Amino acid sequence: MNLHYDEATERFRIELREWLEGNLPDEQERLAEPTQSSADLPDWARQWQRRLFDAGWLVPGWPPELGGKNATPIQQLVYFEEMARLPLMRSYNVQGLTIIAPAIHDFGNDQQRESYVLPTLRAEISWCLGMSEPGAGSDLAGLSTRAELDDDHFIVNGQKVWTSGAEHSDFCFCFVRTDPEAPKHKGISVLIIDMKTPGIDVRPMPELTNKDRADFSEVFFDDVEVPVENLVGELNHGWAITTGSLAHERGMLWTTQVSELENRIEAFRQLGERQDGHGRRLAEDSVFRDELASLYLDAQALKFMGYRGFAKISHGQASPEHSLLKLFGSELTQRLTLMAMEHEGASALDIGMDPYSVGRYSRHSFTMQYFYSFAGTIAGGTSEIQRNIIAQRVLGLPRG
Ligand SMILES: Cc1cc2nc3c(=O)[nH]c(=O)nc-3n(C[C@H](O)[C@H](O)[C@H](O)COP(=O)(O)OP(=O)(O)OC[C@H]3O[C@@H](n4cnc5c(N)ncnc54)[C@H](O)[C@@H]3O)c2cc1C
Repeated sequence: MNLHYDEATERFRIELREWLEGNLPDEQERLAEPTQSSADLPDWARQWQRRLFDAGWLVPGWPPELGGKNATPIQQLVYFEEMARLPLMRSYNVQGLTIIAPAIHDFGNDQQRESYVLPTLRAEISWCLGMSEPGAGSDLAGLSTRAELDDDHFIVNGQKVWTSGAEHSDFCFCFVRTDPEAPKHKGISVLIIDMKTPGIDVRPMPELTNKDRADFSEVFFDDVEVPVENLVGELNHGWAITTGSLAHERGMLWTTQVSELENRIEAFRQLGERQDGHGRRLAEDSVFRDELASLYLDAQALKFMGYRGFAKISHGQASPEHSLLKLFGSELTQRLTLMAMEHEGASALDIGMDPYSVGRYSRHSFTMQYFYSFAGTIAGGTSEIQRNIIAQRVLGLPRG
């Protein structure tokens, strides 16, 4: 097993690091104008994403005409490792960049590609993703928001929930039921909906962790007219989009998760320098030391499981490891932040900063990270659903 990158890949890493050194946004500007939601793009965030795009560093795996560098899978792995070390995200409209632009690229027509893909990459427009509904979350195929075709437009009625960034986004990539008679996976379509269309009511849901911030919203559609040309892909074939492009960058997301875990373990280690009421360093406590060692070992196991899965995918094989990565990584983050909070004692009551205010987690209290870690075990498929997938598709167990 060779765990070193070749020279060309290391040169790629150095080239990226050098570019980043001269191009990061001004920290003061960033802190002065934090993003309010996952589709809110202050000027500095738009400029940063645009600079990355212009230099070929936003989506290096894409072809040059779409702002990429045709980076190889290994180079992309290095790219995500490096980007995860930054104190900020490459895009503050994650859904738009990692899910919706690739989906429109793969399933949309030429007109849609031209109108939406490049403007999304250049941070000129932002998106929300309208999948979940009050009665359809894990079971997305149960969605009931209706879109009825009426001459040259659809009439949309229904409700979405947990829609990240809905309040600030320009468009919604919205999953709707277009054939209520068909079996539930077969009557779904995807529409691009302009969020300024009359009949859309966005009701933000303030978060427990920050009353001034509301990333989630409920979105109500009341006789909303959507031009027929905004249908993405074929009518009633929207399910293919959920199983196709939505998985686009997921294969690489574990690299970000591992780097974030490594940063958190380092912060946990530094916690050991604190003294208790008797002047004893926490690092001398055997429970603390055991926990630190076990967290470190688990994070290493996650990393190598990711490398193994990645190696299989790059050789064209299936990677059962990938089903385990999200489950294990998100639960490990939860375990780590809870342990850290317990060691912090009463000072854990100071919940610190908003998880989004400085992009990544470097300045957030463990308490805030713990609260936010629940998002990781729910979004993109809950832990229970991941366990079902592993049981049925990886281990071949019968349905429970
Ligand atoms: C940070 C974050 C951002 C999000 N952003 C968006 C967004 O932008 N757009 C969007 O559409 N949605 C978004 N969501 C919603 C997310 O996709 C759903 O929360 C998720 O799919 C789970 O659905 P649910 O909340 O309806 O829970 P449910 O599906 O109702 O599940 C409730 C509980 O029952 C369990 N459960 C359900 N079915 C089974 C089963 N078959 N076997 C065992 N247990 C089961 C679940 O694990 C869970 O514990 C976001 C969620 C989070 C946390």
